[in-house]
Parts: sequence; structure tokens; C-alpha cells
Amino acid sequence: MNEEQVDPSVNVNGSARSGAELDLDAQLELLGHEVQARAGEIAAAVLQWWDNRHPESSRATDLQIREDIVRTTELGAATLGRFLVTRTLPSAEERDTISAPGKAPLHDTISIGELTKLYLVWRDTTYERLGRWGHELCISDKAIASAKDFARIGSDSSIVNVVREFESEFHKLRRELSEEQQRLAHNALHDGLTGLPNRTLLVDRLEQLTAKPSRNRQGFAVLFIDIDRFKSVNDLAGHSAGDALLISVAARLRGVIRTGDTLARLGGDEFVILCPDLSDPESEAAAVAERVTAVVSQPFRLGDPAQEFYVSASVGVGIAGAGDDAESLLLRADAAMYAAKNRGGSGFQIYDESVDRSLRRRPELLNDLHGAAGRGEISVHYQPVVDLSSDRIVWLEALARWDHPRFGRVGPDEFIPLAEESGVILPLGRWVIEHAVADCARWTSSGRAGVGVAVNVSGRQFTDDGLPDFVAGVIGDTGLDPKLLTLEITESVIVTSEAATQRALDALKEIGVRLAIDDFGTGYSSLAYLRRLPIDVLKVDRSFVSGLGDAGNDAAIVNAMVELARSLRLAVVAEGVETAAELEMVKRAGCDEAQGYLLGRPGPL
Ligand code: C2E
Ligand code: CA
Ligand code: CA
Repeated sequence: MNEEQVDPSVNVNGSARSGAELDLDAQLELLGHEVQARAGEIAAAVLQWWDNRHPESSRATDLQIREDIVRTTELGAATLGRFLVTRTLPSAEERDTISAPGKAPLHDTISIGELTKLYLVWRDTTYERLGRWGHELCISDKAIASAKDFARIGSDSSIVNVVREFESEFHKLRRELSEEQQRLAHNALHDGLTGLPNRTLLVDRLEQLTAKPSRNRQGFAVLFIDIDRFKSVNDLAGHSAGDALLISVAARLRGVIRTGDTLARLGGDEFVILCPDLSDPESEAAAVAERVTAVVSQPFRLGDPAQEFYVSASVGVGIAGAGDDAESLLLRADAAMYAAKNRGGSGFQIYDESVDRSLRRRPELLNDLHGAAGRGEISVHYQPVVDLSSDRIVWLEALARWDHPRFGRVGPDEFIPLAEESGVILPLGRWVIEHAVADCARWTSSGRAGVGVAVNVSGRQFTDDGLPDFVAGVIGDTGLDPKLLTLEITESVIVTSEAATQRALDALKEIGVRLAIDDFGTGYSSLAYLRRLPIDVLKVDRSFVSGLGDAGNDAAIVNAMVELARSLRLAVVAEGVETAAELEMVKRAGCDEAQGYLLGRPGPL
């Protein structure tokens, strides 16, 4: 290295430094002070070395030599020390004081090369320490080894060279250290399994957003995602399959986020998406949530031998409001996620006060649900399903209502999942079937012949082996034509277990009742699968109907569903028709029947 290449003012105290880098600088500085303070001690060590090297010249022979050794060593130590403190190369003059021929009288005798011994003494303290920091800071062994090699550099180089070499070594160490630090910093902020940002990084980014005054920022939203039935994958196929599932989920979720969004894994089966810069936070976040539930519902092939697994996602959305902090926003998204999960999973919920209310009153509702039907608190409302060619009501869907003594009217979206969870759904569901069949038998005999009734059957009821016998019993007791009873089963229930589904549906079909797939399009069902099952009706979910007829909202999906249904000889019902435009579009798409607020809201008989 020649003179020009060394910028004497090289000061490696760079600008933007992380905490750990500051630590290194601080430690070098301390060491520098120590080298300076211990210059006398170092000089004594060099003298010792000198005496060993020149036994014949004997300690006292040349006091001048000894004095010079001490002086030069102390100067060298001071220079090295200052270099460590300021990381600034010694000035030319200083170097000359130590090394220039003629200026240091003993230069020939005690070559500056020998002064390097000073460095070797220094090394003993320094490198032991570098090694120790190295381990503390996780500098790679290679870096430590090369530092140690450097420590062995030939004794003929001058102090200036030592300083230079130290400098270059120092830079190299810094580089390696910063790579290490980057890796460490990355590890500290990312999840080891999926490589996604972890909670710390997420909260950091979230805090940057919440710190901005709300008038200076766009809206943003947090999506809290939890995988439904994740535990069953772990239980059925082992933890490595569970890990593989999480990695695949992470990859699919990466596919649904936009640049600028943060996808993080909080641990377990919990993920979070942070969506900044939303101009219409609620609808944009809802769109992302829909994409999330869609991609997670697709089957996963996992394990060895590979098996197909079906899971789904419950998503809670928190929309940032003025004065929100990161923690409360995450808590709200989490609460909304619970609400989505409590509703049976595979869906999303945007946080609002009703989320808190339902979480708060949940334990009480769970408790009070026992015997609610027996106490006369449950009633059945009916919503008409209209035939689109004749405009006549062809059947009525039975929808349960609960009038709670303290909370008033509680909707089925809230209490049916609680009933499922507590097992109350079995007696409650039977009560609704009994009630609806009795009502239908009554209106049939009072001049409304031909108008059927539909009853919703949830997952736990559906897998209850006693259900077919119960239904057969109720039909027998009332003498109702079994064709007038339709049982609605949601798609997600159908999909969970193929063999059990087939058995249960066959047994119900045997009785002669009609079977409908409810909320069609929200779960995952394969065509082949639908073909094997004795289904009569597809009810296209409201989410596909809503907005039909609006600009840019074509009926392609509904058209495809109708086509599919035709090929399987199924009747198609459009759910949730609210506007004349939607009605027009579902008619045009070829739906046979429709249901929705436009045609009639649910109400008492
Ligand atoms: P579902 O089977 O999809 O029932 C249709 C739901 O959509 C009803 O809500 C109905 O009021 C609502 N709906 C109908 N038309 C429209 C419309 O045009 N726009 C909008 N926005 N909504 C419309 P409801 O009564 O709150 O029932 C919610 C869910 O609770 C039902 O969804 C069903 O899955 C479940 N459920 C209701 N009663 C029972 C029951 O007796 N047993 C079981 N297992 N589940 C039930
Ligand atoms: Ca239904
Ligand atoms: Ca439905």
C-alpha cells in the first residue's frame, strides 16, 4: 500500500451505525485508552524481550539503548492507542518520530521492526479480546483466525506498517462483522421457519405507521390470520408436515400481498398482513382477506407419502383509526379473528364494536344456550325462496332466532357456532327440524300445498349418526312428503371428510329428503366430488351475487356455477339477492330460484 492509498484522516466512525457497531467502536476505543495507559507496562515487556534476545549485551550495558526502547515503545503505544481511539492514522511527523532514520537515534539498533514486538505484546491483550468479542458478537471463526494471522505478521515491518495493516484488518473485520451483524439482525427480526418478518419487525413497522399523525398518512389495516384445523394436520401427519404446511401457507400468502405490504409470522399458525397506503381501507382490506381465505382453502399436499390436507383461514381485520397504537390495532384484529373463528372459521371479520360485544357476552351465551329452546327463547323465522320462471314461492328457509332474556335478539351467526362448540347444536338442531317440519305440514294442509321447507344442518349435526333416523321419525310422525324437506349443508362441512360425507348423505337421501349445498363457492369442492354425492340443489353464496349488475362486476363466476350445476343436474338458487339489478343478472345467468331481501326478508310465519 503506498502513501496515496492511505487517507490519513480515514475515520471509520461511519454515519449510520447500528447499536452493535457502536459497541465495537466503543470497545476499540476503550482498548486504545488502555494501550495508552499501559504504555509503560508494554515498554517493560519489550525490554524484557530485548534482554532475552540480547543476553550478551546485558541489561545495564547500554542505558541509552534501554531508554530509547522505552521511549520509542511508549510513543508507539501512544500512537497505536490513539489509532484505536480515533481510528485515524498517525501523522507523518509522528511516524517519523518513531521510525524515520536519523530521528530515532537507535533506529538501527532497535529497528522499528523490532518495535513490532511491541505490537506482538499488544496483540496478546488485543487478540484475546478480539477473540472474545468475536464470540460475543458471533464474528465467524474465519475472521478470528485471520485476525490472529495478522497478529503473527513479520517482525520486520515498521510500526507504520503495523498501523496500516491493522487498519486494513480492522476494515475487513468491520466488513465481516457487519455482514454477521446483518445476519444476526435479520435473524432477530425474522422467523426461522418461513423467513418472514417476526412480531418484533412487524410491530416496528406498525409503530412507524401509527406514529405518523393521521392527517399525514393514508389509511392502513392489519389482517390477523389463523389457520383453522392446523392442529389436526400436526396430529395426523406429524410436526414436519405441520412445518411444511406453514411454509406453504407463507408462500401462498406472499402471493396475495401487494408490494409495500408486510407479511409476518407471529408464531404457531398465526400470520399478520400489514397493508399500508389504503385509500378505501375497509374494502381493500376485505379484498385481501378474501384472497387469503381463498388461497388457504386450496388443498395442500404434504407428508411422505404425500396426502391431501384441507385447512382454512380465519381472518380478523383491524382498520387503523386516529390515535391508534400498534398494540391496540393488533389486539382488535386478533379479536376480530376470534370472531371469525367462532363463526366456524374459513372467513373474515372486520373489527367493530359487535366483535367486542360478542366476545364479552360469549361465556354467558354459551351457558344460557342450554335449554334455551325448552324455555321458549328460540323461534323459527322463514325466508321465501322464489322460483324465477313463475315468481312463486317454492320453499321457505327456516332460520333460527334466539330472544335472550338479557341481550335481546341474538342472531344465528353468533349462537349457532356456540351451539356447535358446546354440543347444544344436537338438541337445538333437532328442535328446529321438528318445528319446521311441523310448520310445513301445517301450511301444506291449510292450502299451501307444494311449498317446501329448508332447514340448515351444521357440521356436528351432520356427522351425528342418529340424524337420519331422527329425520325419518319426524317425517313419519307428520306424514309430510319427504320431498318437501330440504336439508342445507354448507360446503365446508361436506369437504372435511369424504367417506363420512358420502355415508351421511346416502342415509339422508334414502329417506327421500332433498339435499342442498349451502354457501356454494366459499369452500373448496372438486367437481368429481360433487358428482359422487346425492345432491339436489346448489345455493350460490351471497358473496357472488352481491354487486352483480354494477359496472365491472360481471356474472362470469355465477355463469360458471350454473353451468356446473346443469352438468350435474342440480337446481341452482341464488342467495342474497338485494337489488333489481342482481335479480336481473341471476335470471340471465340461468339460476332457477332466488332468495334475498329483495324477494322477502326472514320473518315469523
Ligand atoms: P344461511 O343458511 O346462508 O342463511 C341465509 C342468511 O342470509 C340468513 O341470515 C338470512 O337472513 C341472510 N339473508 C337472506 N337474504 C339476504 C340478503 O338479501 N342480504 C343479506 N345481507 N342477507 C340475507 P341469518 O338468519 O342470520 O342466518 C345466518 C346463518 O345461520 C345461516 O346462513 C345458517 O347457516 C345459520 N343458521 C340459521 N338457522 C340455523 C339453524 O336452525 N340451524 C343451523 N345449523 N344453522 C342455522
Ligand atoms: Ca342456509
Ligand atoms: Ca347460505
